[in-house]
Amino acid sequence: ASAAAMPAEVPAPRRVQDRRAPQPAAPGRGFRNAPDSDPSISGNREWAAAIRNRMERSTLGLDALARHAVGSVAQVDALVAETTSAGEGWRALGAEARAAILHRAGEVLEARRADLLEVMGAECGKVIEQGDPEVSEAIDFAHYYAESALALRDVDGAVFAPVRLTVVTPPWNFPVAIPAGSSLAALAAGSPVVLKPAPQAQRCGAVLAEALWEAGVPRDVLRLAIAEEGEVGRRLVAHPAVERVVLTGAYETAELFRSFRADLPLLAETSGKNAIIVTPSADLDLAAKDVASSAFGHAGQKCSAASLVVLVGSAARSERFRRQLVDAVDGYEVGMPWDAASRIGPLIAPAEGGLERALTRLEPGQRWVREPRMLDRDGALWSPGIRDGVQPGSEFHLTEYFGPVLGIMAAATLDEAIDIVRAVDYGLTSGLHALDEDEIARWLERIDVGNAYVNRGTTGAIVQRQPFGGWKRSAVGAGTKAGGPSYLYGFGTWADAPVSE
Ligand code: GLU
Repeated sequence: ASAAAMPAEVPAPRRVQDRRAPQPAAPGRGFRNAPDSDPSISGNREWAAAIRNRMERSTLGLDALARHAVGSVAQVDALVAETTSAGEGWRALGAEARAAILHRAGEVLEARRADLLEVMGAECGKVIEQGDPEVSEAIDFAHYYAESALALRDVDGAVFAPVRLTVVTPPWNFPVAIPAGSSLAALAAGSPVVLKPAPQAQRCGAVLAEALWEAGVPRDVLRLAIAEEGEVGRRLVAHPAVERVVLTGAYETAELFRSFRADLPLLAETSGKNAIIVTPSADLDLAAKDVASSAFGHAGQKCSAASLVVLVGSAARSERFRRQLVDAVDGYEVGMPWDAASRIGPLIAPAEGGLERALTRLEPGQRWVREPRMLDRDGALWSPGIRDGVQPGSEFHLTEYFGPVLGIMAAATLDEAIDIVRAVDYGLTSGLHALDEDEIARWLERIDVGNAYVNRGTTGAIVQRQPFGGWKRSAVGAGTKAGGPSYLYGFGTWADAPVSE
């Protein structure tokens, strides 16, 4: 039977070209990154088409929302008490048993890859090309933190005492990988979790939680809290029994959270205003491609997105670079994720405030290389915008917009370009395109961000290879890097083991 005759409701299993052995399933046997679905394999294109067919009318996750609704402060208080007490059994299970459940979670997430892609597209406008690596990242977090948990076993008379309750408040832009990573890290360390998905990504949160329960995480140890922001959300974050709050979101949200409770135990990855520097020694064609994908992947709605490109010396005068950039960008179709041609999906929140300004108004001295256009009536679909002539100190230079608009800046020297990049308040990701080794060394010495990438785009950090987290205003609280060797330390403290008499 041809694949076309297959009912659209049942996506065929995906195929990966990666021929390595599958993830080690048993604790202590190492870690490998999950491979993405290779679209050059025709079976995978049919698989993706079947997912897209279901996406527009998808009901995944919907039925769970009412069941897990938390509508009052009293309900929050009960939830906190129940989850904290269920955590005692989870801690007592021990690292080995928890790691086995987390490995299983990685397997269930892999088995539910199609569902996760469907709900991400349906609820959050994510195109499959962007969602697929996100599911791989969630799977990686499960296996990686399972292995990390084993490293927390008693060392030299010290025991790792996990926090007694973690609240996870993820964003909507990575509606699977980020809540998965934060929740799985806390669970691996031995802490129970209340997961409160972003209001725009509650169905994704529900499908994720169901996968983790199916894998054996007890339902009372991982609780899903479908709650709106406001009084209820505030109580959840500020409750005195909460010993860790994991936030991924805007810097202002971290400030708001801290205003709820002075001693808030926050672990936050916050905003970014990220730049890629391109020097005359660079492969300009590669640079243009990486700048385009870093700026416009998921419509620029990533903390890690590149929002500035700083061209150095003769590169600043390069028409070829601008032409390549525009060519790359013109190849991106904008549309809904269930349309096969779409490379850039909708904005999850219509452009307003700073983003609306950035999409519609130039500052003095700037000009459009590609003027962004609104393609629908709701203001969700925008063609990518590129403005030239962004000046140091201008609003565009210093403000995070979280949307599909890129600014071009010029600098006479590499050091001047680095000064421009360092002038922003945030320090999440940064890129350099250069083939000259002295330039690379100079840049690495001076750049002040969490994730510094050479001859690569600034998005899509890979678990274990590129632990992810920021400096400056891109991190608040006890931040260590997600997907890195010390991340679990953020979920407890080392204490002296009780001396047995
Ligand atoms: N980890 C993601 C990346 O490397 C970014 C996460 C975020 O936007 O918060 O692209």
